[in-house]
Parts: sequence; structure tokens; C-alpha cells
Amino acid sequence: MASERDVAAAPDATADAPIGLDEVETYLRCPRQYQYEHRQTIRTRTARDAIDRRTELYRTVLTSTLDRCDPDEATLRETAMACLQDRLEATTAEAGGATGHHRRYDEASIRNAVANYVAEYGQAHAEGAIAIDETYTYAADGHAFACPVDCFRTDGERYEIARFVTTLDGVVWENPYSDPVAQYRDCEAFYPRQVGSVLRAYATIHAVAAAHGIDAHNVVYRYYAIAQETYPDYGNDGSGPEVVSDRRDATDACWEADDACDDVLAEAARRIVDGDWNPGDRWDEVVARSCRNCKYQSMCLDHLNREVQF
Ligand code: SF4
Repeated sequence: MASERDVAAAPDATADAPIGLDEVETYLRCPRQYQYEHRQTIRTRTARDAIDRRTELYRTVLTSTLDRCDPDEATLRETAMACLQDRLEATTAEAGGATGHHRRYDEASIRNAVANYVAEYGQAHAEGAIAIDETYTYAADGHAFACPVDCFRTDGERYEIARFVTTLDGVVWENPYSDPVAQYRDCEAFYPRQVGSVLRAYATIHAVAAAHGIDAHNVVYRYYAIAQETYPDYGNDGSGPEVVSDRRDATDACWEADDACDDVLAEAARRIVDGDWNPGDRWDEVVARSCRNCKYQSMCLDHLNREVQF
């Protein structure tokens, strides 16, 4: 069932500073983590940061390619590779302690991932594209949320929003056994990254549908994992690692959750606006699920205080 609540959404139509949906996801994982990452902007260099940088690289290359290309596969491939080469040269300095061999191997896997995307999805995305690399705004309960879209397209019948990610880690399953958003709201379960992936789909579908005057139920939201699996170059033939893409449709999960999405979004926004960074409300769940992979563990007083209690 569609939400009966008001949906006022259009690019730049609402509040001055919309809250990012990635920010909401961080807040759901742990309010203190949100404070460190988004308020104090404390930068780290962990494995998760490396994945985030890789995702940004894929997004930049693929959206630039779709944006400036005729949709024939050869042109798409050529444009994508030229764009990727520019980006790789610009970021070589960031490789830090990586050896030359390591860097070449890594770059080969990125090239193969981009080439796979172009071969599998590039033409369809470019041909039907309505908007590329656009940010829409969703409004709920007096709060505005920024909804970035990598590609919004149509096949002539239905509409699709595509969001590029490196892997599907943390993205809700296509047919979840239960509703992670309602369970989060009702304090029955704590899967904040899955919840974040559903909220992103829900808010973005509504925002895009309202902005383009189409039925939200005719819009699907898919995550495209550009490098879901990477296998070593066993043959050592110079072709580089084998990279396999994947995609996952989050649409059903977001209609299943429906009003629970607005409830969780509104509650998170209210607490973010109030400057409430205390993880105490969900402390047991935060400790059980968020602390162990948190990049701020070594400096977080909430975590350190708990450790020295035992
Ligand atoms: S270590 Fe735990 S309590 Fe501290 S910021 Fe990270 S997730 Fe939150």
C-alpha cells in the first residue's frame, strides 16, 4: 500500500539544508558515530573508507559517461575508459604505500568492473536516461532529505532509479523474511544498514515520482553493485582480476515498510536537528552490532568507558 501521508517533493523545493540519507543511515548505526563523521568530520583511513572512495570513483566515472554519451556500446566503453583513466591519474597520489604491482592490479580490477557495467547495463541506462547524477528532495514531517540519484530512466513502460555501489553489502534482501524498518522502529531488531538501504529507496522513489509527476508505484529502485565479486587473475594472462557485478531491487522492501519509513526518517531527523548524539537509547544493540566495525572505536569514550568496566 502506498503511504497516505503528504509527499511534497521536488528538486530544491524544501528546506535550506536537506539531511542526507547516508547521514540518516549513520545515525541509525550509532548517533555518536554520526557526530564524529558528519558533525565533527573526523576523517579516517579504514577499509570502509577505501570502499566508500571506490564507490565514489565508480559513481563519478559511470554518471559522467552516461551523461555525455551517445548510447552505443563502443562509444560508451571508450568514454568510460577515458574518464576512468583521468580519475586514476588524478588519484594515484592517494595510493599511499601501495606498491607499483599492487596499484596496477587494483587498477586492472577497476577497469574490468567498469567494462562489465558498460557491457551489461550501459546501453540500456544511457538510452532510457531521464536524469543522471541528480539530487531530489523528499519532505516528511517537516524535514527535508536529500536523495541523490545516479541514473533515472525508463524502458517506455516502467521507471527505474539506479544507485551505483561497490558491493551489495548492507543492502536489504530482495525478499526479506521480515520488515527491518518496522522492526527497527518498534525496537524488535537492529539492522541499521539494511534499514538505511530501504529508507533511501523509499524517500527517493517518492521524491523522483513527485518531481516528474509520475505514479510512485511505477518506479523501481535498484542498487547496482559494480564489483560484487572479484577473483584473482589465476591465468596470469594480463587481463587482470575477474570482476562480477550484481544488482538488487529494494522496491518491494520499501512498500512493505511504507509508513514505518516515514516514522524512522522523522525520528532520526528530529534527533539530528536537536543535536542528540547519545547512543544510550539503543546502547545494547549499538554495542552488539555497530561498535565492532566502527572506525572510531579507538577514540570513542562511550566505547572505551564500557571496555574498562570489565
Ligand atoms: S565505537 Fe560504538 S559507541 Fe562509539 S561511535 Fe562507534 S559505534 Fe558508536
